[in-house]
Amino acid sequence: MDATWPSDWAERRRGKDCPMCGQGRPEANEYGVRVLEGRFSDGYLQRRSWQRGYTVVIWRGRHVAEPTELDEEEADGYWREVLRVGSALERHYQPVKLNYQLLGNVVPHLHTHLVPRYADDPAPGGPLPFPEGERPDLPEDQLRRDALALRALI
Ligand SMILES: [Zn+2]
Repeated sequence: MDATWPSDWAERRRGKDCPMCGQGRPEANEYGVRVLEGRFSDGYLQRRSWQRGYTVVIWRGRHVAEPTELDEEEADGYWREVLRVGSALERHYQPVKLNYQLLGNVVPHLHTHLVPRYADDPAPGGPLPFPEGERPDLPEDQLRRDALALRALI
């Protein structure tokens, strides 16, 4: 079966029913806990253990689907904050590589997935596939400990 884009995709790209706009700027959302509260973005360490340290940085401001919609100051500010989070992930987890994925194919609101890659991960030399099915949550105490350590580094 061929996948198709939702029939209201153009409206969603313009912000219709956008869950990232609707959530405000919470300390934690259903997916993770905040490690960066920036001027332009919030970064959330994810509770689902796709990869330890998996973090999503969400643009905060008016609804924007593509980074090309940002003005120069916003673009500078957004990427600098993404890199602050990336730098903290490198120092804390010491991955063999850090991947930055700007997709937005499900929720078309600007956000970036930061995915640490490890020596023993399942796809060395290539992109990491999204895992099938449900991923287990990180233990709550480990999530909190990692979040505290990352906040101190950011
Ligand atoms: Zn939005």
